[in-house]
Amino acid sequence: MNKAGYVKEVFLSLQGEGKYAGARQLFVRLCGCSVGCENCDTDYSFSDFFLLNNEKVHNPVFPEILCQKIYENFDIKSVHSVAITGGEPLDQLEFVRHFSENLKNSGVNVFLETSGFYPEKLQTIKNVIDIFSIDVKINSSFGITFSDNLKNFLSNIDSNRSYVKLVISECADEAEISSVLNLIGRSGIRELYLQPLNNCIDISKLENIMLRFYNSGIKAFFMPQLHKFLEIK
Ligand code: SF4
Repeated sequence: MNKAGYVKEVFLSLQGEGKYAGARQLFVRLCGCSVGCENCDTDYSFSDFFLLNNEKVHNPVFPEILCQKIYENFDIKSVHSVAITGGEPLDQLEFVRHFSENLKNSGVNVFLETSGFYPEKLQTIKNVIDIFSIDVKINSSFGITFSDNLKNFLSNIDSNRSYVKLVISECADEAEISSVLNLIGRSGIRELYLQPLNNCIDISKLENIMLRFYNSGIKAFFMPQLHKFLEIK
């Protein structure tokens, strides 16, 4: 058996953020996060069990068992992809690898949401993930400053399968936007999804930020959090 992992919840919903907003996905949220953002509103606490279609499944769960339960409980062909999210999923690297491998072997598209903080883990999972959604965290939104780790992650990722999400607030200043421009500009990624913090931003500020990205060859899209409007999970 492969390494077991801790799962927070498994549920069907619509992707509410970024490039694939509106896609029907099966979400597998993992426990744990080592990133430590301020303003984090995600419950990634470790728990003894999670619910999968009202069935109580005990943690830790082996990837093969989780896949089997997913195939039994959901029509996996009716979803765009399985979204592995967190917390920070790459904190449970071996579990994510084996779980993703099993899904891919069954013809399921695998979508990973990550902070991009752990470039050394990329090699282990890059062949089993179809889409990388990288959440770039900035000080004005999350109280943390990105480091060389994130630069390395973005530089080594397949840009055709990846995009960046950036949560911006009214407090984002010119210097901070410049540092993100510099960060993404050095990578091959050319798509950026701007997400206003709490779905609220001054439109002229937003236009100014988008223009700066376009002028640097990066297509920036404005994408508020869809699930908050729809009041879904
Ligand atoms: S990476 Fe996400 S889950 Fe982890 S602390 Fe930051 S906002 Fe919260």
